[in-house]
Amino acid sequence: MAELGAADKGAIVVRHATVLPMDRPRSVLLDTDVLIVGNEVAAVGAGLEVPAGAEEIDASGGIVMPGMIDTHRHLWQTAMRGYGADWTLTQYFVWYYLEHGRKFRPEDIYAGNLLGAIEAIDAGVTTTVDWSHGLQTVDHAAAAVDALHAVPARFVLAYGNIQAAPWEWTAQPEVRRFLRERKDAADDLLGVQLAFDVLGDPSFPERAAFEVARELGLPVTTHAGVWGATNDDGIRLMHENGFATPETVYVHAATLDTDSYLRIAASGGSVSVSTESEQSAGQGYPPTWQVRRFDIPVSISMDTSVWWSGDLFSAMRTTLGADRAREHLEAHVAGETITAPHLRAEHVVEWATRGGAQALKRDDLGSLEVGKKADLVVIKNDQSPVSFPLLNPYGHVAFQAQRGDVHTVIIDGLVVKRDHRLVGIDLAAARTAVENTVDYLRGELGEDVWQAGMHPELPADDKVLDNPYTYTDYRSASTREARESIFGESAAT
Ligand SMILES: [Zn+2]
Repeated sequence: MAELGAADKGAIVVRHATVLPMDRPRSVLLDTDVLIVGNEVAAVGAGLEVPAGAEEIDASGGIVMPGMIDTHRHLWQTAMRGYGADWTLTQYFVWYYLEHGRKFRPEDIYAGNLLGAIEAIDAGVTTTVDWSHGLQTVDHAAAAVDALHAVPARFVLAYGNIQAAPWEWTAQPEVRRFLRERKDAADDLLGVQLAFDVLGDPSFPERAAFEVARELGLPVTTHAGVWGATNDDGIRLMHENGFATPETVYVHAATLDTDSYLRIAASGGSVSVSTESEQSAGQGYPPTWQVRRFDIPVSISMDTSVWWSGDLFSAMRTTLGADRAREHLEAHVAGETITAPHLRAEHVVEWATRGGAQALKRDDLGSLEVGKKADLVVIKNDQSPVSFPLLNPYGHVAFQAQRGDVHTVIIDGLVVKRDHRLVGIDLAAARTAVENTVDYLRGELGEDVWQAGMHPELPADDKVLDNPYTYTDYRSASTREARESIFGESAAT
């Protein structure tokens, strides 16, 4: 795919939209235009005069907002889309870390990254942190980068390797050489970080990996507060040893105590909340309901398509729901009633845009203001009964809109999706690559292991309680059979 420089990009004007610029006051601008010249936002206002030859995009009836930013996504796992729908962290760790992760070849990393990167821009995610912890060799890493270069969007390669300890793989000369080259080549479209977890060993062996990051000038992103895996000791060790910095992104940060949140807040770091993940994998309760007490900056992520949706509409929606559910539950336990929720639709839209930019220290992203990079999403679907009335634009984005409503996506001044169709993307090539990966892995595992991996055993204690209000056996045989087919024999009471 030929790369376009900023100089090759003309002017584009998006007309007559409800614009959510995500500026500080969280303005809502009605019947407003956004003018893009080159790769920057040149003007935001009503009835803009535009340069001759500017491409016009009619966004009437729609919403224009900044491109969304996902601060934690394991793109390589997109090749296994949906496979782990019924997993918890236990199956995930066994499948990827212990048993099958090392079977992934460089071309499999490429396939997952390519499809995941395309999926992101299709859903209006214009910047993605590729939390790439399947990089067993630098050939795997080169394949990951090749895929990111093939898709016209912004990425951060967060280099990781779950098959070795971080102090081992960061010590490899070829890995350091690769990282240094990526750092030197880093630009607005592809940055680099290190990705590894801190397990709480009092001798803090991760120190060596943090020192490599410091030597190379690379931020670190880490899975923190993951029940059974990472805990308060990891945060304390990072903080006490001077490696908790404002650039550090703490993913999940769910099962942590007050001391850890205070350390994160004091060091200026941020939390990446993956609510769909935390809710079903078991890292801990999605932490937004308590993180706000410490004024820790929040961004949003979707984690992995091996389980969940690769779009931030789902992430915003489920984050609102989890925060409000917890707030209600805590109040009900205390015999109280919540009459107005703390977390608002505008907050999650901000976390999905400006919050991501803040986490990545990218002041040029995350809002539609003059001089910012031209990353923009038009949400508009004239065929959809859900597209009107448009009364509460933040509420519309958070609870009504979805991937299919993404009409146009512009990244760095380039239209990558227009009128609901991706532009210049070879989806057939991504399909072939992923099919090859799936065929290969399925062959390596064998059909029985492949099927078993997808279907964890049901817990045995799934008994239905005796019900004192049941005086007669009114249930028909067919109802009982239906229950048994869903819940197993133990449900046959
Ligand atoms: Zn993750």
